[in-house]
Amino acid sequence: MARSFFGGVHPKGYKELSSEAPIYPLHPKTVSIAMSQHIGRPCTPLVKVGDRVTIGQKIGDGQGLCVPVHASVSGTVVAVEMRPTPSGTNGMCVVIENDFRDILCPNLKKHESINELTAEELIAIIHEAGITGMGGAGFPTDVKLSSGLGKVDTVIVNGAECEPYITADDRLMRERPERILGGLRVIQKILQPERTAIGIEKNKPKAIEAIRAAADRDVEVRALRVRYPQGAEKQLIQAVTGRFVPPGGLPAAVGCAVFNVATCAAVYDAVYRGMPLVKRVLTVTGRAVTRPSNFSAPIGTLYADLIEAAGGFCCEPYKIFCGGPMMGIAQHTLDCGTIKGNNALTCYSRKDNHEVAHPHCIRCGKCLDACPMHLMPLQLHKARQKSNLEALEKGNVMDCIECGSCAYGCPAGIPLVQSFRTAKKMLRDAKAKEGKK
Ligand code: SF4
Ligand code: SF4
Repeated sequence: MARSFFGGVHPKGYKELSSEAPIYPLHPKTVSIAMSQHIGRPCTPLVKVGDRVTIGQKIGDGQGLCVPVHASVSGTVVAVEMRPTPSGTNGMCVVIENDFRDILCPNLKKHESINELTAEELIAIIHEAGITGMGGAGFPTDVKLSSGLGKVDTVIVNGAECEPYITADDRLMRERPERILGGLRVIQKILQPERTAIGIEKNKPKAIEAIRAAADRDVEVRALRVRYPQGAEKQLIQAVTGRFVPPGGLPAAVGCAVFNVATCAAVYDAVYRGMPLVKRVLTVTGRAVTRPSNFSAPIGTLYADLIEAAGGFCCEPYKIFCGGPMMGIAQHTLDCGTIKGNNALTCYSRKDNHEVAHPHCIRCGKCLDACPMHLMPLQLHKARQKSNLEALEKGNVMDCIECGSCAYGCPAGIPLVQSFRTAKKMLRDAKAKEGKK
C-alpha cells in the first residue's frame, strides 16, 4: 500500500500566475549552449567559430559519464568560449546565431515503431539524443536505463511538480500527454517493469485528466497529496510504493526507476521523431515578471530573451532563480543560456524578500521536523560553520536533497540549503584530495 513520506512543508504555490498560460514557442536570435549540462563529464566542443550548423547536429561530445549536446537552432557558430552558465560559474559554451531557416540535421533518423528495436538499441538512441533527467537532477537517462536492466520491477513517472511557481510539467501533461505516454512505452519496453505508475499532485486536476485519457490500462495514474517535496525521487517512491530507499542508496536498490514527464517526452521525440534534446518547456514566472508564461525554448536561449518574451520586469527584481525558489540557484546575470534541466526562471520582487539581516538560531527544532531525509539540519549547519568534515559525514549531509524544506520553515531565516551545498562541496573536495594522495 502507498504511504506518505516523513517531513516536508506546505509552501504557497503561486502556480496560478502561469498555470493557464499555454506553451508558447520561442525563436531566439542567439543561443549559448553550455558544454556541461548534466551530472558527469562536460562535453568537448566539436565545432569552431564560423561553422554552419543545423538543428539536431552534434556540437559537443565526450567519453565516460557524458552525453552529447546538439545545436538547437540552425545558423552560424559565432563563439566557442567561456560564458556564464546557470550553475553560477562560467563554463565552455558554443554560441550560435540563428538564421531562422530551421534547417534540420540530415543525419536525424526517426522510427515508426519500436517493435523491431532491442533494449540496447533504444538505450543507444537515447544516449545519442543527449537525454538527461529534466526534473533538475540532470543524470544521463541512458545510464539510468542501463543500470536498471533486470533490477527494476516498478517504473514511476514523476509529474508531481511540487516546487512552487513552476507549471512547465503541468502544461506539458495537459498539452502533450501522448508524447509523455509514447516515451513511457519506450521505457517500459527497455525495463520490462511489472508495474508502471504516474504520480501527479492533486493540485493539477486537468493534467491528471489528460494523462488518464491518454494512458494505456497498464499505467496507473496516481493523484498525490499536495506536499513539498512530493516530487523528490525518494519521497515519490515512498508515496507510490511504500518502499524506503536507504540512506546513500539509489532507487534501483528497491526495484524502482523514476523518470520526469519531460524526460519521457524527450525519449518520445528521440525515438519517434529522430530529434535529440534541443528544446524544452520551461516557466518564466514570479511577481517581478510582467506576464508569467510557459515557453518551449531552444536549449541555450538567453535568460534576457526569456524575460523579454514574458513582457519584461514589472518591478525591480530582488532575486532570480534558475528553477524554483526552494531548489533553484540564484542568478547574478541574465547572460546565461538555458540548459536541459532548467525547468523555470523564477523572479522574486522585493515583496518576496524574507531574508534576515543577522540570522540567529532560536533552537525551535522546526528544521528537524521538516526534513524528509531524517537529517539534523541545525547540527549539520553548525558542523559546516566549523568545517567539521567528520561531523558532516556522520550526519549524512551527502543525503541532503537540497529541497529547502528546513530553510522554508526556519523563523531565523538561516540560509541552510546554501550551507549544505557548501558542505557537500567541502566533503567532495576533501575526498578528491585524499584520492590524489
Ligand atoms: S537538510 Fe537537506 S534534505 Fe533536509 S530539509 Fe534541509 S535541504 Fe531538505
Ligand atoms: S528552524 Fe532555524 S531557528 Fe529553528 S532550530 Fe532550525 S536552524 Fe534553528
